[in-house]
Amino acid sequence: MAAGLTDKVAIVTGASRGIGRATALALAAEGANVVVNYARSRTAADEVVATIADTAGSAIALQADVSDAEQVDSLIKATMDKWGRIDVLVNNAGITRDTLLLRMKPEDWQAVIDLNLSGVFLCTRAASKIMLKQRSGRIINIASVAGLMGNPGQANYSAAKAGVIGFTKTVAKEMATRSVTVNAVAPGFIKTDMTEDLSNTEDILKYIPLGRYGEAEEVAGLIRFLASDPAAAYITGQVLTIDGGMVM
Ligand code: NAP
Repeated sequence: MAAGLTDKVAIVTGASRGIGRATALALAAEGANVVVNYARSRTAADEVVATIADTAGSAIALQADVSDAEQVDSLIKATMDKWGRIDVLVNNAGITRDTLLLRMKPEDWQAVIDLNLSGVFLCTRAASKIMLKQRSGRIINIASVAGLMGNPGQANYSAAKAGVIGFTKTVAKEMATRSVTVNAVAPGFIKTDMTEDLSNTEDILKYIPLGRYGEAEEVAGLIRFLASDPAAAYITGQVLTIDGGMVM
């Protein structure tokens, strides 16, 4: 364990599957107590907690729709009741509702903005109250290369992720004096349920210099680094792409 996370408390939103699941496992392997947040996949979240327990780690599953302010407040309260502090917040929960702009319904737009952008605001606001009092903390927001480059069919998603990037930089400036760092990770195409149904894989691979999709564990490794102490203590307000070289 070299990440300085022993006995620290980490909340990972959307940790039942995909990148969030891999992140919860990676942080727990470094000795962190991990909140495995989920919305619907209770069995999957319980499996993540059981996997962590099997390796003598410490985790609890907490259900909350992080686009809902009251549920976010309950998530933070339950974490504080259990462990009394919050050192790391990984704002990972996200959805897609892909379609071209002219076919995009207002509800497709709103659902993606509500979770992928407003959810990041709600969780960050609630957890940062604790971190500012502690005078320490790490907030890691999962953006996307779509927020940097745009992507046809993802006007809602790209707008939300670009919003997350602007939010990250502003909050990093607001919190720096209390030693709370705020960074964004912008993955490219990662093998998870979210990308499982993409039909144009061959076309996509043409735009990835490394010639393959990334693994959730590779993104989790970057998130673990940003959470690590003191290794990442002097990094704030940054957007780190992890995309096989798509954006360079
Ligand atoms: P995923 O496999 O589809 O998993 C999504 C996770 O979000 C699940 O754990 C899900 O929980 C949770 N979630 C959904 N709605 C929620 C809500 N309202 N409240 C709380 N949790 C909720 O997705 P992923 O590919 O790992 O993506 C994780 C993050 O990385 C997202 O922010 C995504 O935009 C970003 N990202 C992914 C890629 C990629 O290629 N995969 C690329 C760039 C960025 P339930 O299982 O309970 O529904």
